[in-house]
Amino acid sequence: MDPILEGLNSRQREAVTATEGRIRVVAGAGTGKTKTLTHRYAYIVNVLGIDPADILCLTFTNKAAAEMRSRIAGLVHSGDYNDFVCTIHGFCVKFLRKEIYRLGFPKGFTVLDEEDAKALAKQAMDEMGIKRTEKTVRQFLDAVAAEKALNGYIQTYMLPESKVTDGMRRTSRLANYVSRQMKGYTLDFDDLINFTKYILDRFPDACAAWQDALDYIMVDEAQDCNLDDWDLVERLSARHHNLFVVGDPDQAIYQWRGARPDLFVQFAADKTIVLDENYRSTPKILDIANSVIIHNRNRIPKDLFTRKAEGRAVIHFHGKSGKEEMDWIVAQVRLLLGGGAVPGEIAVLYRSGFQSRAVEQAFLDARLPYTIWGGTRFFERREIKDALSYLRLVSNQDDDLAFARILNVPSRKLGRKFLDTLQADAEGVSLYTALQLHDGYGKPAARAFIDLIEDGKQYVREHRISDLLDRLLDRSGLKQSIREDQDEARLENLDELLASIRSYEAARPDDEATLADYLQDIALYTNDDHRKDTPVLKLMTIHQAKGLEFPYVFVIGLSEGIFPNMRTIREYKKNGEEEERRLMYVAVTRAEKALFLTESEGYNVSTKTNKYPSRFLAEIGPELMVAEGVIPEELWRGTRNLVHVLDEEFDPHRPVALDEVDFAEERVEYASPFHIGDPVTHAVFGPGTIRSANHDGTTFEVVFESGAVRSIRAAFLTPADFP
Ligand code: ATP
Ligand code: MG
Repeated sequence: MDPILEGLNSRQREAVTATEGRIRVVAGAGTGKTKTLTHRYAYIVNVLGIDPADILCLTFTNKAAAEMRSRIAGLVHSGDYNDFVCTIHGFCVKFLRKEIYRLGFPKGFTVLDEEDAKALAKQAMDEMGIKRTEKTVRQFLDAVAAEKALNGYIQTYMLPESKVTDGMRRTSRLANYVSRQMKGYTLDFDDLINFTKYILDRFPDACAAWQDALDYIMVDEAQDCNLDDWDLVERLSARHHNLFVVGDPDQAIYQWRGARPDLFVQFAADKTIVLDENYRSTPKILDIANSVIIHNRNRIPKDLFTRKAEGRAVIHFHGKSGKEEMDWIVAQVRLLLGGGAVPGEIAVLYRSGFQSRAVEQAFLDARLPYTIWGGTRFFERREIKDALSYLRLVSNQDDDLAFARILNVPSRKLGRKFLDTLQADAEGVSLYTALQLHDGYGKPAARAFIDLIEDGKQYVREHRISDLLDRLLDRSGLKQSIREDQDEARLENLDELLASIRSYEAARPDDEATLADYLQDIALYTNDDHRKDTPVLKLMTIHQAKGLEFPYVFVIGLSEGIFPNMRTIREYKKNGEEEERRLMYVAVTRAEKALFLTESEGYNVSTKTNKYPSRFLAEIGPELMVAEGVIPEELWRGTRNLVHVLDEEFDPHRPVALDEVDFAEERVEYASPFHIGDPVTHAVFGPGTIRSANHDGTTFEVVFESGAVRSIRAAFLTPADFP
């Protein structure tokens, strides 16, 4: 047998050797889907002799792509793998570097990240006189994205022959935003995929060349592809018809970004292979995973089994406070390390970024080196540094670094130039003093800044640090500007900072909790010069952990509102709850040898109420875990009240097969303006019929009489019988 096939089970082998045609692998977590995919790549290269340049291998996150590349590199001869093991956006960038000249763009175009896109949106809003109080930057960008989804925009605005007049720029959000993009030939994430599709559509020679070149296309985590992703891989595989998709509908965690797991379920495959042996986790961990996911109604029941030995008990720890929860985690980590575990084998997973703060401080206190995967350390996050800089400047007006950081944050129109002037004038004195000496150069915004800091100095004499920070965040406009960006994660981080200062104060007598004390103590966390090369403990959100595995896993902060996330449930109701439950399934199935689930009592930053244990813990049979710490009955009552609201007529113990569930019905039940089958008209595409809706009922897939199928925002559709 070829060595590539050794170590695979018979079904995996079947999937690896079925190289031709449309093949789908549907399987639960840890059954070797990614392993099968990487071995298939190696098989195609090593045994069929296909040039790696002819294989496109896609996945979702950069981390997962890196993991895939390294697994493939271990299986093929050195150098026998290529750039096309990447994310979908990564592929689009490579495609466009070659092809975008056709649209008159330089191949060195720039890709805009989220922050850049927001900056452009703000400029456009300012020019158009749209107030941030009327519309947030996020809403503006969403509206631009919706208009881009209509697709005509490339031709109208972005080609050399497109004529964008000042009139258009004044009246059209899209025209204004796009013309700003065009100044620097920049593309945002939507453009990457739209441009790729545009070129494939309009340039048959380009399309044919790529279809010819890509003999084999493989997609990992296909349950998270959206309509555009599917469209792209279907189009690219249209000539050779070799499309291999692997996925697990139970791990669909991107529906809020338009993922379409139903398209994976409905994929027209020549052959479907089901894998059911889990090689990753112990039976005890799998039991937990199964007992959680079984509560989802909207799924295909699956049986996973493992031949691994029983292993360690899964532990659920309940702490009387957040601090107790962290102390316990630190103690367990120490036990694991003492027992021979390597730091890099231990992962701490959480639902939302702000939750890293507590773990980070605990690990820093305990001198346990850690790294945040795919994210920034809490005290290095922009809004946290800004907030602390306000405190630093109030505490010490000679702190020029803090001053320079926040003088223009949020924007006070005191930009670079203003700072340069100030710096030139500040000979022998601090920047703040120089500003005072020149009375803010007569600028009202600069004077207001001085007043803000002076007010803080007075205020802190009589008040606590947390109240001071609250006041500064408010009066500086910093919080408001983040709110206008609708940047929930950053707001949560600021709330978390406030909550952490409150507990700092609560733990000390007043005279030991001065601003100077606090800033000195916190410097320990902000100045940590961590080494990047040693294998250290890994902290990450569950979304970042998808597809990865770790011997020891902690899933922390299992409180209602945090996990499941309150906003998801509020917005998407039952579907939101199910998506959160799939996230829980993803989290639990990352663990190989040991799993620790933790939560605690106290204040909940997200809900601004008391913490109650997560419903997901309630769904796990108590016999499946060892409990440490007792959850008082009244806390469970709090959980039940929250769940009850959503669950009136829902029996959690009856899993329903996917084909029993009408997906379309499910998706449009939230005050949707259209129903499946409704006739509609569209200004450009003409008459059509609604085929499906996204989960929150804001975008609809329409089949037009012209044959075009497009996803379109509700606002751009009119009911056909509308007078
Ligand atoms: P996920 O759903 O989390 O993405 P997956 O289905 O992609 O999981 P893999 O990551 O490919 O699963 O495999 C999980 C673990 O099981 C890996 O450590 C892999 O090496 C191991 N494994 C997979 N198949 C086999 C096999 N036939 N024999 C031994 N180990 C295997
Ligand atoms: Mg995988």
